[in-house]
Amino acid sequence: MKKSYLIAIGSLMMLGLVSCEDPGSASKQNNEKASVHEKTGQLSHWSYEGETSPEHWAEIEKNSDCGGKYQSPINIVDVKACFTTADSTRLKVDYFPETQIFDVHNNGHSIQFDFEQKDSIFYKGGVYHLKQVHFHEPSEHTINGMRFPIEIHLVHTNAKNQYTVIGILGIEGNDNDQFRFLDKFLPLKEGETKDINKAFDLKSIFPKNAIDYYSYTGSLTTPPCTENVNWIIYKQPIVLSLDQVLKVRGNMPVNNYRNEQALNNRVICKNF
Ligand SMILES: [Zn+2]
Repeated sequence: MKKSYLIAIGSLMMLGLVSCEDPGSASKQNNEKASVHEKTGQLSHWSYEGETSPEHWAEIEKNSDCGGKYQSPINIVDVKACFTTADSTRLKVDYFPETQIFDVHNNGHSIQFDFEQKDSIFYKGGVYHLKQVHFHEPSEHTINGMRFPIEIHLVHTNAKNQYTVIGILGIEGNDNDQFRFLDKFLPLKEGETKDINKAFDLKSIFPKNAIDYYSYTGSLTTPPCTENVNWIIYKQPIVLSLDQVLKVRGNMPVNNYRNEQALNNRVICKNF
């Protein structure tokens, strides 16, 4: 069961959005709240509440990594983060204004925008292509124990199907003009997909300071909780209006975030 909690950010309200989904695992829930992974045909019962909540994923998702030692999300303790500007951890973002969003899908766990294979990043010596973007409400990662109203995950994979995910945290403030392009496709019913086929410059929703970031090695935050995921969390949050957060929140399971996972000897680094 989810515990209620307080966000220590002034008068910020909890807001909510989408989850760390395998890019190919669109799913929808049936009346019994089970979901079907359409591409695998595999039954999946995980959710964000009750007996199928994140605390139970390791037992109900038998062939997953959900019970592993190097899981996500985590709490980032800034003073404990190592400082590095090594070439091996340098991030290069190659996103293009003309990149098309194919569609947006409500998979029952989050709202997910699927992109054509064009935008990419270069990280740890390899190229990772952007596959999809989704939301969690409130955030999954916390910084110094502080949870944010929203977290956006930009999921990238390489030729070996390994992952690098960029996390962008959001706080509540003024309306975000760039984000409006995304939220205008809502509402979206569970299981529903809307075609978009329009260009969107994803970099337009990046924080102004999209240079400073934390990095560590973890996992997908939804089953199968695949490990060895490179995580990059931008230090600076973006600003969205309460209405925008509520709009996304209203199309996802309430509180679709996974609880904090143990660090287990991992080191979080930062480049600032
Ligand atoms: Zn996610």
